[in-house]
Amino acid sequence: NPLLLLTTGLFAGALLAIAIQRLKPKPRKEDIRSGIEECIGNTPLIRIKSLSNATGCEILGKAEFLEPGGSIKDRVALNIIKTAEGQGLLRPYSGDVVYEGTVGSTGVSLAMLCRARGYLAHICMPNDQSLEKSSLLLKLGAALTTTSPAPIVSPTHFVNLARTLSTTHPTLPSSTPSSHGYFANQFETPYNFAAHYTTTGPEIFSQCGGRLSAFVSGAGTGGTLSGVAAYLKSQDPKIKIVLADPQGSGLYNKIKHGVLFSPTEKEGTRRRSQVDTIVEGIGLNRLTHNFSLGRPLISDAIRVSDEEALAMARFLVEKDGLFLGSSSAVNCFAAVKLAMELGPGHRIVTILCDSGTRHLSKFWKGMEVGASWDMEIGDVLGASKI
Ligand code: PMP
Repeated sequence: NPLLLLTTGLFAGALLAIAIQRLKPKPRKEDIRSGIEECIGNTPLIRIKSLSNATGCEILGKAEFLEPGGSIKDRVALNIIKTAEGQGLLRPYSGDVVYEGTVGSTGVSLAMLCRARGYLAHICMPNDQSLEKSSLLLKLGAALTTTSPAPIVSPTHFVNLARTLSTTHPTLPSSTPSSHGYFANQFETPYNFAAHYTTTGPEIFSQCGGRLSAFVSGAGTGGTLSGVAAYLKSQDPKIKIVLADPQGSGLYNKIKHGVLFSPTEKEGTRRRSQVDTIVEGIGLNRLTHNFSLGRPLISDAIRVSDEEALAMARFLVEKDGLFLGSSSAVNCFAAVKLAMELGPGHRIVTILCDSGTRHLSKFWKGMEVGASWDMEIGDVLGASKI
């Protein structure tokens, strides 16, 4: 029967067509970032198992050491540059020069992004910071001016130097005689705070499913602490905000006693602007705009000695394989102290600002973790002395 044959043939053909369609690979969703800029942010939030087990609280660290420029400062550098571009103050691929005073991390982030967007970075930095940062800046092709540590009132303080250079603008690339000079000004610019208010804070809140008891962090410019605190408080006013402060910094006194320098401190220390600690990137003896923005939200402060930070850094390698920088160690120590105050069952979030690889020649110098697992949290808490 030819009709039956035709129908069977058509049916078989249709089945074959469906089978072929099924076998064809499905178009996959692409996941491609357009340049290094699009790799910034959305870092993991890590449960630090050793600290959580030891305290009965859940201690979570935002893994900013995984940023492409190696630290949390990538977020700030990106926001400052993008905002300046939006205002026409920087023009991509023009050879414009971004000037900044920094202890290093912001400089590295700016230098990386400047290369990516066709600018030059001119970084002014104190000469007592870890060598890794100045070497990195040079490898990234930034112009580097180092200066002796000086009080903030001195024209040679690294921030003042960068501000002055941005007006005299000596780093003109010969190919671009009309290049602009732009002072990034991380300590005072609101775009630092805004970077954390719009990215770090919302990421943390959403990664926690909206459930956290406290946020604890150190302050260098204060952008992280203020920006994250302001966002978290806007979502849940019950979240406690705590400052982690290294030895030698006045911010602890400011929160605890309302003054940067306690009355018992010698007159000579009042003019001191350098913070006397091995820790880099956090601690200040002056109030910046970015710190002031979040100050009313901070309910407590925890001071951490160099010994405590060093012991915590070792502990985190030994127990968790987390090789972190000095400010992260201060943050984690303060998180444990806070957990002990709050009692078990709370969720505490802190920042893992950068990696130990940035601090091999200073903070980590001479410190070996060894092959054992014999450290206990008590060894860290007992490290003491300021
Ligand atoms: N950790 C490191 C390593 C830093 O360089 C900085 C910035 N100076 C911070 C923490 C503190 O961040 P913020 O400036 O947002 O207070």
